[in-house]
Amino acid sequence: MDSRTDTPMNHVLPPLPYGFAALEPIIDAETLRLHHDAHHASYVANLNRTLEPFPELQGHSAIWLLLHPEAVPEAIRETVRNNAGGHLNHSLFWLTMSPDGPREPQGNLARAIARDFGNFEKFKTEFAEAGEAHFASGWVWLTKSTKASSRLRICTTAGHDNPVTNGEVPILLNDVWEHAYYLKHQNRRRDYLRNWWMVADWAEASQRFEIPCLKDPCATGA
Ligand code: MN
Repeated sequence: MDSRTDTPMNHVLPPLPYGFAALEPIIDAETLRLHHDAHHASYVANLNRTLEPFPELQGHSAIWLLLHPEAVPEAIRETVRNNAGGHLNHSLFWLTMSPDGPREPQGNLARAIARDFGNFEKFKTEFAEAGEAHFASGWVWLTKSTKASSRLRICTTAGHDNPVTNGEVPILLNDVWEHAYYLKHQNRRRDYLRNWWMVADWAEASQRFEIPCLKDPCATGA
């Protein structure tokens, strides 16, 4: 971390909502500690450092920065996109998992999954296959259309892109960067994706489905 006291700290690393060992054995404590304390922390630090010479951008959330690339100077646009995306996606991701959440969707979200994928088992298979097939680093998502239909869709994004920039609402997401699984699963991304359902929190997913747009998961220190 930057030791200077005048460094703006608009973006802050949210604490993990559970202990590092809480998602064992699916996600081991060492992976979770590195993922949160090193990887996610670096996106937050990089974002603050990149925005340091631009006070007019410092009051904005990570979501806002991603939705308004034209407001970000071209020289830092890609760095902001990567690090604001990394911060937003990981903040969402920690909340998408829990040691004891419901492991199946309920209510309206369960009905929408049955409507759009046939049934829950088919959805899980399609989601895991999309994550397996994604080339290199990225994320796999379940999203909701902001149109009246609220139609659900599975998609993947490269790097730390977030489908919110395409006008969709993220409902569920999984990280398929190697840093998310490599210590425990090595190259077996399939095993990681297929076991991940045992830590997915469908209460959180259902809350996201019920509201019209994405609730900002990022805390700010401003
Ligand atoms: Mn990650």
